[in-house]
Amino acid sequence: MIAEQFEQVFGTRPDGVWRAPGRVNLIGEHTDYNDGLVLPIALSQQIVVAAAARPDGRLRFSSTQGRDVIEADLAALEPGSVSDWAAYPAGAAWILRESGYDVGGANLLIDSDLPTGAGLSSSAALLCASALALLELRGIEVAPDEVARLVQKAENIYVGAPVGLMDQMASMCCTEGHALFFDIQAMSIAQIPFDPAAAGLQLLVIDVKAPHRHVDGEYAARRKSCEAAAAQLGVPSLRAISPEGLDDALARLDDEVDRRRVRHVVTEIARVEQAVEAMRAGRLRDVGALFTASHVSMRDDFEITVPELDVAVDAALAAGALGARMTGGGFGGCIIALVEAAAADTTLAAIEKAFADHGFTAPAPLPATPSPGASRLT
Ligand code: ADP
Ligand code: MG
Repeated sequence: MIAEQFEQVFGTRPDGVWRAPGRVNLIGEHTDYNDGLVLPIALSQQIVVAAAARPDGRLRFSSTQGRDVIEADLAALEPGSVSDWAAYPAGAAWILRESGYDVGGANLLIDSDLPTGAGLSSSAALLCASALALLELRGIEVAPDEVARLVQKAENIYVGAPVGLMDQMASMCCTEGHALFFDIQAMSIAQIPFDPAAAGLQLLVIDVKAPHRHVDGEYAARRKSCEAAAAQLGVPSLRAISPEGLDDALARLDDEVDRRRVRHVVTEIARVEQAVEAMRAGRLRDVGALFTASHVSMRDDFEITVPELDVAVDAALAAGALGARMTGGGFGGCIIALVEAAAADTTLAAIEKAFADHGFTAPAPLPATPSPGASRLT
């Protein structure tokens, strides 16, 4: 139990235990920085933070995955002052202090059943759980979406990762049995019923265990393409291009690569809308075809897949999945597949066999249940 482990490390019982989940995006990839739409669910896999207040303004962080205790002074925190994994809880403390919240010193022990670096957003979960713990230790109440905005700043400025707001919003604001429909332009969220089990379905999440290749450079290049195309079209962002206006917009673009990037973004935003419509109408099986169309768009137009992702998607579809796609930023990470519950095992076996045939590292499946956002456990 985390309370016992906490006592072993810090010598006292924790004042409380908090949790924040990882997430998987159902559809809407590389749409966030185009003012678009995303549709994540929170996972049951999560970061758990046990914490106790300290009177001396010191911060001490430890993780059950490594015994060393990292120390810092709350008052002395500035971007870069704590590095490595402890930059996440330190970044949470820093942004709360910077934003005028009267958080104090604390001991924090972090535990997790969320794979790190698999694209399931362990980073945002760690930030959210840490921020919630630091706030509630002092009895400070902050709205979940505001916590999300704060820790996004911490990830951007303190950790130095240029991430959007989806991961933090998913970890803070998702609810059980729902996907979070997040409109980045409107800054609005809506809870969309998504309960595969109740429909006789299962959502598979499979880490394809591919080494991430050139992720940062490729991400920057995709953003640049989208910004250049928006500038040439004279719009603030690609969100302004409707599916009806797509052909006309494409005809006005000089660069062949930019044209394909734009086609992905515009059609992907439309697919999110269609997925939400189908889910609201209880037509969950119809979402499958949208997953697959999204994958084809990312493979051929946005060019962010790698062979492991394509092989996993193809094997899932050949085994009868209703739909499958890579999820996350691309170049590695996970695929998701929507399957009849009875076909889950044969689909996984088919993917494993395809990976063995290709000589790939064995993929790692994860149970995926639409779960609630961050909360206090004890
Ligand atoms: P992702 O968010 O997709 O999991 P990132 O590279 O954004 O991948 O974040 C992973 C980083 O988050 C890890 O390298 C580590 O620094 C930190 N982290 C995640 N989980 C833990 C944990 N349980 N204990 C300590 N650090 C963690
Ligand atoms: Mg991350």
